[in-house]
Amino acid sequence: MIRFDDVSKRYPGGHEALKQVSFDMDRGEMVFLTGRSGAGKSTLLKLLMLSEPLNQGQILVGGRNIHRLPANKIPYYRRRIGVVFQDHQLLFDRSVYDNVALPLQIDGYDKHEAARRVRAALDKVGLLSKEKLNPMILSGGEQQRIGIARAVVNRPQILLADEPTGNLDPQLAAEIMALFEQFNQIGVSMLIASHDLSLITRLRHRILTLDHGQLIRDEHHPSRSGATAG
Ligand code: ADP
Repeated sequence: MIRFDDVSKRYPGGHEALKQVSFDMDRGEMVFLTGRSGAGKSTLLKLLMLSEPLNQGQILVGGRNIHRLPANKIPYYRRRIGVVFQDHQLLFDRSVYDNVALPLQIDGYDKHEAARRVRAALDKVGLLSKEKLNPMILSGGEQQRIGIARAVVNRPQILLADEPTGNLDPQLAAEIMALFEQFNQIGVSMLIASHDLSLITRLRHRILTLDHGQLIRDEHHPSRSGATAG
């Protein structure tokens, strides 16, 4: 589904954020990407979202070299990918409903189909009863759930998340991860960047570790021994 083949990324100014990274991810897999701050996690996700160019290697998604897609195919590619950010990037001058509906409006969905999809997404994240509220008055965990509903409203095949639990306490963080597992169980491929090792080792999915831009570990079934209790 996703293949990184000898991918390097150098930012203007010379900093090499990714160095010859190669890995494969199957359709339907749930994979965590970890490493210290500055290790290259966000950069790797940005290359997948086509929001940064790469300098070397190739990234294949569904067998296609995404950095070679013709311009008219890029919106179609982006629609297959949902993205969840740490700061959720919600619009506070709109309701919960309108925030989630935004990607569908951009794609020109008719109102009834959009309403059906928005309500299905809000239902999945447990926020159906709050659709009319302003996100500003909701808790941090609820705001992150709105961001997740917005990311899945297009029914993407791939969900990327960049430190989605970075601002949440451990209980809420675990709830958000459980929600991601539910999406994964219905077939969505998930790549989640998180530096919270104690949280992600407990979940027992595959873990890729970056260190100074290099992929230094790829553990398919991490043991629980690395995780601290609680
Ligand atoms: P992480 O997500 O693991 O914290 P990043 O991918 O954000 O790591 O950053 C990797 C490295 O690339 C860091 O040294 C960072 O300072 C650098 N970097 C990130 N974005 C830019 C940019 N736009 N311009 C220059 N350097 C950048």
